[in-house]
Amino acid sequence: MDKSLLAWYGGTFDPIHFGHIKPVEALAQRVGLKKVVIMPNNVPPHRPQPKANSAQRKAMIEAAIQGNPLFELDDRELQREMPSWTADTMETLRAEQGATQPLGFIIGQDSLLTFQTWHRYADILACCHLLVCRRPGYALTMPDARQQRWLEQHLATDIAELHSQPAGKIFLAETPLLNISATVIRQRLEQGQPCDDLVPAPVMAYITHHGLYRQ
Ligand code: ATP
Repeated sequence: MDKSLLAWYGGTFDPIHFGHIKPVEALAQRVGLKKVVIMPNNVPPHRPQPKANSAQRKAMIEAAIQGNPLFELDDRELQREMPSWTADTMETLRAEQGATQPLGFIIGQDSLLTFQTWHRYADILACCHLLVCRRPGYALTMPDARQQRWLEQHLATDIAELHSQPAGKIFLAETPLLNISATVIRQRLEQGQPCDDLVPAPVMAYITHHGLYRQ
């Protein structure tokens, strides 16, 4: 059985954009990840509701990753009606994949800085490694000394640890900085401004065809 590191990538993806895709491609190359499973969430507990519905966000992800063998889509959270906590999902994935399979959960630096506010964050790290992509405008150190100590206790010193241990490490990847957010894309589209350099062409075509994110 192949026990090389598998990674999941959660988010709202409203819409998916190059800031999601390009840093993760670089991360995958750096870490030796063969598969990244994009897992859009349905009712993110800590955020306002997405503008595009579940089916539309799923279709845009499919359009973005078509022909790209690195990515797969896992729409289990979209199927649920209840909020899906990352901790619950990671525990389910751990049960599915077995105790020894190395698992990763990919987040941007902004998410790392608030990670300790996440529901059962320690249980998440007990289930998987955190693979962190850089994001422009976000500090590379944690907001306070206690959180920084926590980070340093868990930092992966060697990529091999991510493949030899099932969970518990945090890897800060030196990924390219892309100053893109879904919020800015939605604002630009509302104002009728182009976003061709921010989202893949098939995603832009879907947005235009379905008239998404207009006022
Ligand atoms: P919004 O602007 O609606 O808050 P977003 O662009 O931050 O959305 P999400 O779907 O909320 O996108 O993010 C999913 C994950 O992708 C998060 O872990 C986030 O940190 C990461 N991410 C999003 N954009 C970038 C980026 N430009 N660079 C690095 N990571 C990113």
